[in-house]
Amino acid sequence: MKAELLEAEVWEEASKGMRLSFSQLSAILQAEASSLPALTRLSRMVKRRFRGGFISYSRKVFIPLTRLCRNACKYCGFHLEEARPGEVYLKPRQVLSIAEAGVRAGCFEALFTLGEKPEEKYSEARRELRRLGYSSTIEYLYECCRLVFKHTGLLPHSNPGVVDWEELKALREVNVSLGLMLENASSRLCEPGGPHEFSPGKNPKLRIEVIENAGRLRIAFTTGILLGIGETVGELAESLLTILEIQRRYGHIQEVIIQPFRAKAGTPMEGYPEPSPLQLKKTIIAASLLYREAIPVQTPPNLSKPEELAGLVEAGIDDWGGVSPITLDYVNPERPWPQVEVLRRASEVWGFPLKVRLPIYPKYVVEDSGFLPEAFREAVERLTDRLGYVREELSLGA
Ligand code: SF4
Repeated sequence: MKAELLEAEVWEEASKGMRLSFSQLSAILQAEASSLPALTRLSRMVKRRFRGGFISYSRKVFIPLTRLCRNACKYCGFHLEEARPGEVYLKPRQVLSIAEAGVRAGCFEALFTLGEKPEEKYSEARRELRRLGYSSTIEYLYECCRLVFKHTGLLPHSNPGVVDWEELKALREVNVSLGLMLENASSRLCEPGGPHEFSPGKNPKLRIEVIENAGRLRIAFTTGILLGIGETVGELAESLLTILEIQRRYGHIQEVIIQPFRAKAGTPMEGYPEPSPLQLKKTIIAASLLYREAIPVQTPPNLSKPEELAGLVEAGIDDWGGVSPITLDYVNPERPWPQVEVLRRASEVWGFPLKVRLPIYPKYVVEDSGFLPEAFREAVERLTDRLGYVREELSLGA
């Protein structure tokens, strides 16, 4: 389909409140580079009209609670195959010292990232949990989230992996929002030879159930797509549509991350081709046009080159995700966070001022819709302006 025709068709349908179809999404995902100027223009128009005129980010510290994991995703550079005895989990003192450093650096978010249920696979994890006085990683995570908020005021956001209803319900008490990447809705990627062959937790049915349960529990939730791990265009389009379907039912998805696969040395997929900047832009455009007012689109700035960042704004993103002034991205440690000034310039090139947000999106702060857990209400209200972003005087220097 010619880009101009697609542009006219998509704009007309957006104006009438209609959604992109599977075939329109597929056409965007396969568009030629020559179509990009028309598509990016359209995507930015949609972003500005339906999702507002700012680009945001969250100032965070990254707390890698444990790097053992029951899964073994073939692209993952975060999980460890073994840990030294007694060092499976960060201890409360270590967790608090990272969080305190975050407060000193002007952060508002404590991002807990961890391997999924390592106690199911590693006896050392079970032993260490017992010594700490907990029966599961999620119980221990609960306690660390509670401690961090109580002692530092940082707002916890955890990526706990696949969890059941009761675990999710408990985590809601001590997290202002939670996250779980869908990555892809295709179970084909879990088959022998696929990237999730040895990752029971990457079964998309399980992940969709967690995301839906979060909706039922009214948890502001982050999910997303991992782009370029062997999915087809059809599987990518289906995955984007699956997230929209869930959002229509529950309204809790605060952002969709479009995360490009990056090859890590020493992993089974170290020689696998990475998605190109063009593929990333087309996927952002597809998400932006599909989700329209329904869900903001995020992409992590440290997974693209600094000179490519303005192009991601051009494609219609709303957010740069969590950016840390002090801790590494432990999932992509070879890729440091860009400076905030670099993000500001890239955003302003296309006329979008940069704003600091909390780990719970502004919409869920300003709308009294039951997503903001009571325990955080006072802190969140103290930190935010009438639009739900971090108050200007507190963002200074951020
Ligand atoms: S990507 Fe996540 S789930 Fe997969 S092995 Fe790494 S830490 Fe575990």
